[in-house]
Amino acid sequence: MTPPPGALPPYTVRESPRARRVTLRVSPRVGLEVVVPRGFDRAQVPAIVRDRAQWAARHLERIAALGWKPGTAPAPPPALPLRAVGREVALRTAHDPRKAPALRQPGPDTLLLAGDTGNDDACRALVRAWLKAQAREVFGPRLRALSSALGLPYCALRVRAQKTRWGSCSASGTISLNCTLLLLPPELADYVLYHELCHTRYLNHSPDYWKLLESLLPGARTLDAALDASAHVPIWLRL
Ligand SMILES: [Zn+2]
Repeated sequence: MTPPPGALPPYTVRESPRARRVTLRVSPRVGLEVVVPRGFDRAQVPAIVRDRAQWAARHLERIAALGWKPGTAPAPPPALPLRAVGREVALRTAHDPRKAPALRQPGPDTLLLAGDTGNDDACRALVRAWLKAQAREVFGPRLRALSSALGLPYCALRVRAQKTRWGSCSASGTISLNCTLLLLPPELADYVLYHELCHTRYLNHSPDYWKLLESLLPGARTLDAALDASAHVPIWLRL
C-alpha cells in the first residue's frame, strides 16, 4: 500500500475550531484524516500529506490488515472466532429496515442480527452485549481459580467493552476485563488475567511488579509484547 512516487494516499480534510496546528490521524472510521485549524489554507494540505506519506501508509496498512478498506465502513465480520475457548460463532444478518436491530442465537454456534442491520452502532452494541455475557461466563470462573491458586485475591470482576484496554485493576481490587479477550488465543487471554491479578499487589508496572508477574508466569514480557501486536479483534468491533 506504499504510494508510488507522486501519488498521495486518499485522505479527508476536517476543519476544527480547536486545532492550533495541522495534525494527521489514521482511524478505522475515517481512514487518513487531516485536521486543520479554522481558515487554514487548504492548498498547503497535499504537501503536508506528501511529507507524512510513509507514516500514513504504515498506519493505513495496519488497519487494512484488520479488514478495513479505504472509503468503506467496516462491516460486521462473518464470524466471531472465540479463540480463547476454541470456538467459532457464525454471525449472520437478516436485514429488515422496518424493525429495530435484534440479536438472536438460533444455534449454539450461530448468531443472527435481524432488523435494521444498517444501524451499525446498535448492531455493534448488541454483539458487544452478547460477548460480555459470554466473557463473564468464561473468565469469571477462570479468574476465581487463578486468584486462589496464586494467592492474589481481588474484590470484584467487571466485564466491559473498552476500546483501548484489555483490562484494568482499581485501587479497591476491582478487575475489569475486556469482553474481546474472548477473541484472543488462550495464552494471551490468560496473560491478561495474570497481569491484572498482579496489580492487586502492585498498582503499577514497577520492577517489583514485573518480578512478581514473571515469577508466576514465566515469559510474561514476551506475552505482553505479543498482546500489543495482536490483530485478533475485527475492526468492526473496535469502532
Ligand atoms: Zn498493567
